[in-house]
Amino acid sequence: MSIEVKNVTKKYGKQKALNNVSLTINTGEVVGFLGPNGAGKSTMMKIIAGYIPPTNGEVSIEGINLLDEKTDVRELIGYLPENNPLYLDMYVKEYLTFVAGVYKLPNIKQKVNNMIEKTGLTLEQNKKIGALSKGFRQRVGLAQALIHDPKVLILDEPTSGLDPNQIVEIRNLISEIGKEKTILLSTHIMQEVEAICDKIIIINHGEIIANDQAANIQTKIEKNQVITVEFNQDPNEKSLLKIKGVLKAKKVKTNHWIIEATNKKDIRQDIFDFAVANKLSVLSMQKKEKTLEEAFQELTKE
Ligand code: ADP
Ligand code: MG
Repeated sequence: MSIEVKNVTKKYGKQKALNNVSLTINTGEVVGFLGPNGAGKSTMMKIIAGYIPPTNGEVSIEGINLLDEKTDVRELIGYLPENNPLYLDMYVKEYLTFVAGVYKLPNIKQKVNNMIEKTGLTLEQNKKIGALSKGFRQRVGLAQALIHDPKVLILDEPTSGLDPNQIVEIRNLISEIGKEKTILLSTHIMQEVEAICDKIIIINHGEIIANDQAANIQTKIEKNQVITVEFNQDPNEKSLLKIKGVLKAKKVKTNHWIIEATNKKDIRQDIFDFAVANKLSVLSMQKKEKTLEEAFQELTKE
């Protein structure tokens, strides 16, 4: 099941939460949707899940326009909303039976039992949702999103508020489920996408700023390269800045410099040539590799 979002804009009153967003998610992909708070992730997900309409633009699931045939398409989608609102006074099994009834599924009893087993809720099935830990509530949320066996899953911050063990459990569960489904998963945790996603889409201020394979995104979004250099004696800062592409040069201690340059070409050869021309020796030189996390912060910081 593929998801196609075309030129979607969403305004809340005067505020634009999404600005002309287009994206495609192919069948079977697990896509991480990353962005700082307020970037527009939840808004985009609510629109894809058919819970709110866009102000402009279209969404289609497997070529079927969401707005044209809303009820049919919604049956193809499982949605775990942000903060996972659940009926705390209902019992786990009772709640899942209720959800299955809303979808008018056949063999409800069997479906509910399967889902309870699949999401590891066997021991909690007769407890009130309000009595469960957050990790188990999240399993109930996943179970309700999956009960009608949708091909597309929209998971809005599925691990937020969980402790580290619960996070690992839920991630494993999602990875397991992801083998058969197309998944869009939002998070602001970088390791999360590194752990489970094939592709990453980064959104900031309602606009897509990166959309690529996890492995490519890092190099693509790095704006600058950072080199640490040790000379045998300090160069003149002004002359360092004259090297083509160098943006900043900062002395950290005697003979040690951090040089930042544009990412157009590897600047190390030029630094070496600079040293020779200025009768200096380069004692060591390292290019600092940015982590995905640092690249993300650089891209989205104000
Ligand atoms: P994210 O999920 O990335 O944190 P949201 O989609 O929740 O971002 O929010 C995007 C922007 O839209 C934010 O500035 C938020 O304050 C605003 N917003 C979200 N929902 C509403 C709403 N129902 N009414 C008004 N503004 C909203
Ligand atoms: Mg959100």
